[in-house]
Amino acid sequence: MLLTITTTHYPATDLGYLLHKHPDKIQTFDLSAGKAYVFYTEVSEQKCSAALLLDIDPVGLVRSEGPRGNDFALEQYVNDRPYVASSFMSNAISKVYSSAMNGKCKDKPEKVDVAMPFSVKLAVLPVSGGEAVLRQLFEPLGYHVDAIQHPLDPAFPEWGDSRYFTVELNHVITLQSLLSHLYLLIPVCDNDKHYWIANDEIEKLLDKGKGWLETHPLKEMIVRRYLKNQRAMANQALGVLLSKDESDDTDEEVSSETTEALTEPKPKIHELRLLAARDQLLHAGAKTVADLGCGEGRLTRLLMQEKQFEFILGMDVSYRALEIAKDRLKLDRLPPKQAERVKLVQGSLTYRDKRLRGFDGAALVEVIEHLDEPRLAALERAVFEDARPKTVVITTPNAEYNVRFENFEDGKMRHSDHRFEWSRKEFEDWGNGIAACYGYTAVYKSVGEVDEEVGALSQMGIFTLKN
Ligand code: SAH
Repeated sequence: MLLTITTTHYPATDLGYLLHKHPDKIQTFDLSAGKAYVFYTEVSEQKCSAALLLDIDPVGLVRSEGPRGNDFALEQYVNDRPYVASSFMSNAISKVYSSAMNGKCKDKPEKVDVAMPFSVKLAVLPVSGGEAVLRQLFEPLGYHVDAIQHPLDPAFPEWGDSRYFTVELNHVITLQSLLSHLYLLIPVCDNDKHYWIANDEIEKLLDKGKGWLETHPLKEMIVRRYLKNQRAMANQALGVLLSKDESDDTDEEVSSETTEALTEPKPKIHELRLLAARDQLLHAGAKTVADLGCGEGRLTRLLMQEKQFEFILGMDVSYRALEIAKDRLKLDRLPPKQAERVKLVQGSLTYRDKRLRGFDGAALVEVIEHLDEPRLAALERAVFEDARPKTVVITTPNAEYNVRFENFEDGKMRHSDHRFEWSRKEFEDWGNGIAACYGYTAVYKSVGEVDEEVGALSQMGIFTLKN
């Protein structure tokens, strides 16, 4: 199975730098399904073609993947997988061209964002749904698509066409985008339903689809096919892509640092809240802690520095925030022991979630005010009734303090995304109601310098489960 990528961008030899593959060498890579080879079929400053040849080992495949579907007895040995572009090709692309896919180029980083004329050839691509589907997948992304459909058997034209195409795609685009399109859309064209699919597939889909899948007219089909029509997974992924609910306003939250309505002395007070939350969890003797609505992982980072915390879970509804958190916490680069200690998961606090059960402590730093009333009620149940951490630390702005802001106007809130901001009394009334309802005790503290009249900038409630 062959995939060639050609560019005529001058100097075309930049392709070697971008792919991190030297044009003079043939390189071999071991993959779970067989071997991949990269070599160049043409190298000049005018034109450069890199070929990725995938040599699938059909017997190894059966061993490593387990038996395929049982459409017919020999199907696990006699199938088209070695001869077509499928998810194995995606896997090869992501392994062999990983730097390029991640937008990295050691020697010529300035080329990563340059759109170049590319021509891609896929020797055999199975397309479920035929040429129309092929076009509907690639043309909205700007590709010029040429496809030759192959007959089932040239000796018997009356048998009709097969689902196999030789495909050429042309576009002026960055290499990174090109590879992410191929990575997702090759298995989507193929739509083979037999192979096992890993749990991190949703993340891969959202990661590689970032910036284009959200607006693709066939996004729903792409998601369902990519996730092999596993309904629960597809719905979860579509929930993130299509959500006009939590994830939209949280996206705003991620960028809201610049769109604040009132000018809160943010870095300082936020740091204070985080430190206060950490100290409460330390003081409670918690060993396992959850940072709920962890955002970009600021509190998680502080928690990681404390040996007392043996396991730290960060959870947020915003995939984008979690990605930033993952980067900031350098989770990919931690030694294995440290890496096991920290986990980031995507989820919404308005749903009961098994993953949140059994923690000693949990913190919700500046989270509750982002939820409107019905969703706050759902959060209360998910946290205090279902997850039931022994200690819950919640911080939220103290609305009384807003009059101290220079640009204060009555009724204005600190963030455009805040659904409410409470006075100390309102927070305590709410907290006492929760404590009574779910069997916790509640204590309240100020965060930040206390103004005699209006209190501090921020307030904190510490809820402790009664025995
Ligand atoms: N606790 C972090 C982030 C606060 S911003 C910090 O102190 O730095 C509020 C966060 O709550 C955002 O990251 C937002 O995505 C998250 N959030 C809002 N609604 C949520 C929900 N229903 N479930 C989980 N997280 C939510």
